[in-house]
Amino acid sequence: MAGSPWSRSPEYNAAPRRPGLQDQRSSTLVDPIETFDDFLPEALRRRSPAPLVDIGANLTHASFARDLEAVLARARAANVTTLILTGTDREHAEQAVELARRLPGLYATAGVHPHDASRWDAALERAMGELHRQPEVVAVGECGLDFNRNFSTPAEQERAFEAQLGLAVESGKPLFLHERDAGRRMREMLHAWRDDLTAAVVHCFTADRATLHGYLDLDLHIGLTGWLCDERRGHHLRELVGEIPLARLMVETDCPYLLPRHLPAKLKGRRHEPALLPWIVREIAHWRGIAELELARATTTTARAFFRLPADQTQHDAQPEEQ
Ligand SMILES: [Zn+2]
Repeated sequence: MAGSPWSRSPEYNAAPRRPGLQDQRSSTLVDPIETFDDFLPEALRRRSPAPLVDIGANLTHASFARDLEAVLARARAANVTTLILTGTDREHAEQAVELARRLPGLYATAGVHPHDASRWDAALERAMGELHRQPEVVAVGECGLDFNRNFSTPAEQERAFEAQLGLAVESGKPLFLHERDAGRRMREMLHAWRDDLTAAVVHCFTADRATLHGYLDLDLHIGLTGWLCDERRGHHLRELVGEIPLARLMVETDCPYLLPRHLPAKLKGRRHEPALLPWIVREIAHWRGIAELELARATTTTARAFFRLPADQTQHDAQPEEQ
């Protein structure tokens, strides 16, 4: 249907190309811009019964450069009304802030991902501190520890993380945390800082029960992605999902990564996007044994309080947008 948010948007061809995109394109084996469809198949169009907040959307990823307006229109049509754009380094955080300034319902985080921790220095710390003072930035991160791949050494990761814990205390803003295979060290470091931190969410939680309860004991929030929709590796999460208090639970796509594996239709290019968040919420509600509406409402209330999103925006978001 022409003009439908599910199909090609009028702004589609006018979407600005970001500088540097050419370089990123030539360095990838598969062209990220040409390998996905520009619409969602009918079977994947699902509208959440209540407005949702996607707390982790990497919309500054090169794969969204061509059709960002259409992606945002499809999110609104799916009742995903608020997006927290993940800022994983200085460049992406600045891009996220710029988008949040320009477009309603978008907010940004600003941090340095553990993969890039080796780049941490005094200049980067100053730049991050400056970003955290911006009103569009609602959390410090993505930061944390990833001992799974160690793109930066564990020592470099701890140094960058420690500095960002300090920045979170300084700004008073909540933390957006990444942790993989580093649960014990993460808990130790957070324990030392916890009294001075306001709030923190472990995004894309995929660890075991002991780690989960360690985080809950530290009064942390938990972000769940489509990981538990994966029949190969998400089984343990299905059993744990009921152990997370609703007031601690938030939902996210982590798009373009982690396309859920339980979707009823294939997506060319396998790029995940915010419009697919209702499928994840439905799955979490199922394994928790509650209604999708209840989970949607609870996670949105939790996310709005956690990121301190303005109340008038809530009013606005409650109205489904005309397309
Ligand atoms: Zn992450």
